[in-house]
Order: sequence, then structure tokens, then C-alpha cells
Amino acid sequence: MTEPLRYMLSDDEVPTTWYNLVADLPEPPPPALHPGTHQPAGPDDFAPLFPMDLIMQEVTTDRYVDIPGEVMDIYKLWRATPLHRARRLEAALGTPARIYYKYEGTSPAGSHKPNTAIPQAYYNAKAGVKKLTTETGAGQWGTALAFACQMFDLECEIWQVRASYDQKPYRRAMMQVFGATVHPSPSEVTEYGRSLLALDPENPGSLGIAISEAVEVAAQDPEIRYALGSVLNHVLMHQTVIGEEALLQMAKAGDTPDLIIGCTGGGSNFAGLSFPFLREKLAGRINPTIRAVEPAACPSLTRGTYAYDFGDTAGMTPLMKMHTLGHDFIPDPIHAGGLRYHGMSPLISHIYELGLIEAEAIAQTDCFAAGVQFARTEGIVPAPEPTHALAATIAEALRCKETGEEKVILTALCGHGMLDMAAYDKYFEGGIVDYDYPADKVAAALANLPNMSD
Ligand SMILES: *Cc1c(COP(=O)(O)O)cnc(C)c1O
Repeated sequence: MTEPLRYMLSDDEVPTTWYNLVADLPEPPPPALHPGTHQPAGPDDFAPLFPMDLIMQEVTTDRYVDIPGEVMDIYKLWRATPLHRARRLEAALGTPARIYYKYEGTSPAGSHKPNTAIPQAYYNAKAGVKKLTTETGAGQWGTALAFACQMFDLECEIWQVRASYDQKPYRRAMMQVFGATVHPSPSEVTEYGRSLLALDPENPGSLGIAISEAVEVAAQDPEIRYALGSVLNHVLMHQTVIGEEALLQMAKAGDTPDLIIGCTGGGSNFAGLSFPFLREKLAGRINPTIRAVEPAACPSLTRGTYAYDFGDTAGMTPLMKMHTLGHDFIPDPIHAGGLRYHGMSPLISHIYELGLIEAEAIAQTDCFAAGVQFARTEGIVPAPEPTHALAATIAEALRCKETGEEKVILTALCGHGMLDMAAYDKYFEGGIVDYDYPADKVAAALANLPNMSD
């Protein structure tokens, strides 16, 4: 009999609850603060932006939250996603390590993002909201939310970072196929966008700027709400379907991970895979090392300051305690657009401070090399973001080759790169360069952190 390459779950094995890590932590994460008073932000402070069901999920300490039937019905279009054993990659590396990857590229958007877009659209529709606004960088989140809004008859208006809007026309077209209106950000549509364009008509934009524009529009109209694709507790919780499935699938494979690796932009795919395993670790049942991998050009966890900061550039959001490079830091234009965010999820930041996870930063040329090696052995072209996790996985597997260790590595392959071929093209032409850590730009941005001395 040949060895299995994939481990699947039947429809009735798909988990029906989301897992909330906060319930199991030795200390709760620090609260979000009101940007004016610096007092803990209450549900009313979030009400102009989010429906109450999601606000309650943001602050709940319940261990499990039931996934509504309407959401399960749509999840089943692509869930459970497959868990693969990377036997051909292992053979090419000559490693005794066993490498598994949980593949989220089979979703309608090609990434893990619909896992939270679907429930966010559902709870907004249930609350009578008519339209959702959001930001997107490379376009993965915008695509997912556009699809989700179609499922629940909501309008969807998206601000896409200018640089990506120009570089990735097919992502924009995909959002339009799913019925969304897409603006390049900064745009003429908002007061904040107009103020930036007046200073510099060529402003390439950033995720922080696009968030400010989407928030500005949502805050002005009670029928419009805003949706965020990462960073917040409820988003990370929705993504735990990935890890709950992977736990069942690893059991089918008869293996227990020694090391879990994921890439981190705002932290949601990493949390989604690792939090259910962290629950098992905190309960003493398993003991994996859990490692976040970020780009060397935007290293919020490994080089950022742990402080209260804004989630957006204009300073309109509540303050969150997180590892940040400063809310007005604009990262160099690396191709992993989903990892170009100045901050890290407050919950990931908190567990990093507690020593429950470790982190490393990798430069993009090493990541593209790993992505190509992965594609040539496993047959899946990865998005630029998860090539960071793959580069760390391959480096670890090669260390195992030196030591002979039969380590079990589980990694998050959170999306495919079929709409990122321009980046691979550039890589083959030698046009992908590494950026030095931008120490001066980070220092300048950190000087603008909100003053918390009161
Ligand atoms: C959005 C995105 C990321 C980064 O966001 P996280 O919240 O850190 O997961 C990474 N990979 C892909 C494919 C994405 O679409």
C-alpha cells in the first residue's frame, strides 16, 4: 500500500465550535483603550464600527462559541481543508523530519480569510447592516469579504492599498466579480484620503491608511459597518477552525507535532492553526514549540515595541497594546502584501510576552527560494506570505538532517499564489531584493506613539 499524502475529514467530523484561547490563559490580555480618555474601551466604543454579536465575541471569556448553522452551511463549500504530508519535499531535502502542511488555498478566495469573512458578514446581516467597508493590501481579504457579502446580500466597499491596486489588477477584478466596489487608497472618496493626496498625489498607500478610510466611511452611517480581516480577538477565534481540524487530522496521521510554524501579518492564520494546539499544550497533553515567522522588512514581533498604539494611520481606532513599529510606519514594498502591517494582534503579542510562542524574521529572497522549492516538489504555488513559514520549515528540516532528529513539523500553508505570479516573475528576473531593517524609519514612527503618561 502506498503511504497517504493527505488526511481528510468527512462533513460530520468538521468542528462546529470556535475556540477562544483567552479562556485558558494564565493572565488576560490588556484591554483596548478609548483613544481620547485612555479608559478601557466598552462595547459602546466599538458600536459605530461592529455589530454587537461580534463585539461580544471580541470580549468573551467563554472557551467555546457555537458556529451558527448558516455559517456552517457556507463553510462546507470548502471545509474541511486537507492536511498534507510533504513527502516529496522531505525526500528532496533528505531530512528525517516529517513535514505536514494544512492547506487553506482551497477556499473560494484562495486563502484562510473566508473563515472569518463569512461569520462577519453573517452577524452584520443579522443586525440589519446594509453595507460593509474594509481595507485590503494584496487583495486576499478584500476578495474574501466580497464573496462573504454576496452570500448574505450585503453591499461591499473596499479600499485597496494603491501600490497593490496598480500591481495586482486580477485581485481587483476578482473582488468586482464578487460584486464589490474597489477604490485605490488613498482615495478622493474620504476626507482623510483627500488630505493625503493634497500633500502627495502619488502616495502609494499602506494598510494603516486604507483602514482609516474604511473606518471613516463606516463611522458616519448607521447602516454601514466596518470589517477587519486580522488582528482582533474575534477574527483569530473564527480562524481556529483550521487548528481544530488539524488536531483531528494529525490524529488520523498518527503523529503529534513537535514544532508548529506559521507566518504572521496581523496573526490570524498563525493563531488559527496554533491556538487549539496551544490549548492542548497548556493542558499538559502535548508539548509543541510554536513559532511565528515575519518579514525582515516589517518585523513587529521581533523588533517592535510592546506598547499601546493605534490600529490605523490616522489614529481613529481604539488603542491596542501590541508589538508595533509605530502606526505611521510605512514598510518597504515587499511582495508579501498581507504581512506589511505595522502592528501585531494584541492576543499574539500578549502570549509572546508570556513566553508561550517564539518568533523569527526572514528576508524575502530566502522566502521566494523556499516557495519555488515547495512548488517544484509538492505541486502547489504558495502565496508570498506563507513562503515565510515554508522558509523556516525547510531550514528546520535541514537542521534535522544534520542532527538526525525525526522532528514532526506542522506548518500553515494559508493561501495559494496563483494571482501573485507577477512577484514570482520578478523573482526569476532577479528583481526581488532584500531590504535592510529600516531602523531610522521605525525610530521616527515610534516617536509618534500615543502619549500614555496620563
Ligand atoms: C492576509 C494574509 C496573511 C496575513 O494575515 P494574518 O492575519 O497574519 O494571517 C497571510 N497569508 C495570506 C495568504 C493572507 O491572505
